[in-house]
Amino acid sequence: MTANRVVQGRMVTAESLAEMIEGEDVMDAESIEDADRECPECGSDVLEVGYMPSVTAFVTGWKCQECDWSDTDRE
Ligand SMILES: [Zn+2]
Repeated sequence: MTANRVVQGRMVTAESLAEMIEGEDVMDAESIEDADRECPECGSDVLEVGYMPSVTAFVTGWKCQECDWSDTDRE
C-alpha cells in the first residue's frame, strides 16, 4: 500500500483523493501513484489514482499536489 500523500497541504488517502477529483463519494479507490506528467496550470507534481465512482465504472484520475487542477480519462 502507498502511504498517504499531501495535496494542497492536506493529507489524503487514495479514497479521499479520488473524492477530490470526482467531487463526490466514490465506491473504491486503488493506491496513489506518481503520474508521469506535470500540472498544466502550475507545473507541480501530479498524482494518479484509479477509482470506481460507481459499481460499473472505473476511472483514472489525476490531481495536482499544489493547485485545484484535476482531470480524468472519462470521455
Ligand atoms: Zn497545479
